Amino acid sequence: MYSRDRRFTVEIPASELKKIFSWVLKSPSEETGGDLFGVWSDGQDDLENKLCIYHVSGPGKLCRRTPFSFDQDVRYSKKIATYLSRQYGLDHVAVWHSHQSALDRPSAPDEEAIWNTMRSLAINRIALFIASSVGKRKDDDSSSFVINTFLFETHEKSNKCWPVLQGTFRILPEPSKKICFHSDEEKASLEGLAENLVTDKDINMIDITVSETSVIGSLERQL
Ligand SMILES: [Zn+2]
Repeated sequence: MYSRDRRFTVEIPASELKKIFSWVLKSPSEETGGDLFGVWSDGQDDLENKLCIYHVSGPGKLCRRTPFSFDQDVRYSKKIATYLSRQYGLDHVAVWHSHQSALDRPSAPDEEAIWNTMRSLAINRIALFIASSVGKRKDDDSSSFVINTFLFETHEKSNKCWPVLQGTFRILPEPSKKICFHSDEEKASLEGLAENLVTDKDINMIDITVSETSVIGSLERQL
């Protein structure tokens, strides 16, 4: 199998992707991040890694962040992962974080951290979504960000790392599976650990433009 033939595709509802842009805009001077839950599915052939995302979460209350780094609140992340696995059979398949700079791919420390996480969790693939700045527009006060996605994968038998592979997006206009928190108690206990939540109103304020390998999001122009 030649690495140049490997492919990585991500299917994600527009509303879940817009949540990332909304969290990024809520953290204008420091990095932020979160987790993505879904399933790996069979692509067209052995060379395609296909990821279907159903739920995106944001930073937990105990996350640590600076203008150059983001460390998720592990307790929050694990609690959501346990719930979504039990109720919906979803896996914790990816992580996301923002860059204040225009660096639109993983930094060297990002790559090292992901490979280390994979080794400690004994998993052979995970995706990383990076939201980076595309600069402030001159004519209004909104900012635009671009999201790119990357696959980290190790060879199942030899455990060798494949080169990091940039993915392509397929954005779904509507979620194919509605993820909700069943009881008020569960909802409150999970939401109570979140640093802040994205509302439907927040989501509706984001405009996205999709190209093959990236998605640009910005605040809708206020009239
Ligand atoms: Zn980074």
